[in-house]
Amino acid sequence: MYYRSRALIIKNRDYRETDKLVTFFSEQEGKATAVARGVKKPASSLRACVQPFCHSLLYLNGGKELGTITQGSIINFYGNCREDLRRTLYIMYMLELLDKTLMEHIPLPQLYEIVLAILDYFNETGLNLLAIRYFETALLINLGYKPVLDRCVICGAHQNLTAFSISEGGTVCSSCCSNLGMTVRLPGEILALLKLFVNSNLKTITRVKASPRIKVELERFLEQYLEYHLERKFYVKNTIKTLKNSMHLLD
Ligand SMILES: [Zn+2]
Repeated sequence: MYYRSRALIIKNRDYRETDKLVTFFSEQEGKATAVARGVKKPASSLRACVQPFCHSLLYLNGGKELGTITQGSIINFYGNCREDLRRTLYIMYMLELLDKTLMEHIPLPQLYEIVLAILDYFNETGLNLLAIRYFETALLINLGYKPVLDRCVICGAHQNLTAFSISEGGTVCSSCCSNLGMTVRLPGEILALLKLFVNSNLKTITRVKASPRIKVELERFLEQYLEYHLERKFYVKNTIKTLKNSMHLLD
């Protein structure tokens, strides 16, 4: 099978004498890994477009098995982000989470568009932490953990949704809350932001103003949600901790 696809390069590693194995998140095929033949030779035209971070147009040969990248060209290499350590670290964080959690050859075009929109925004305008939280929410939704936010996940009530059950994946009303062991407090501002992440787009989200306290609470909330649902399968905890520690050193 020959196909071409826009793709965000996640990582590459050595493979045979002159080849590399390239892992990417593509529009057509979702996450996939393919061989870039001869890419270690200085004259290879593929060299530039299979670097991590690049958004490239790739021409591929191969289906579900290990394919080959036959040609490629760069669409964007996010030069402004590369010159800025914080933006670089946040993009690494996003790429690591995609690498750890996505199954190969499952197209996720909606998530792909969201990731690209965020990278374009970071490159053109600058870092925006709500955009990172929006990415985390979109990733959870695409992996099948869309949070229930408009009713009590236990009894279906629409009022007094003051807490959130991480394990049940939704808001909980005040009367069910007392019967459930594990819930976290969910302030109205956080609930409103989560609803916006589920129903809105990046343009709207980057216009929202949130206080530093709310941003920290939202970050902690999503960290718990990600870890609870993804840790058992994907061991994301270390990725999150290591990269976040280096980001916070820069704050
Ligand atoms: Zn309830």
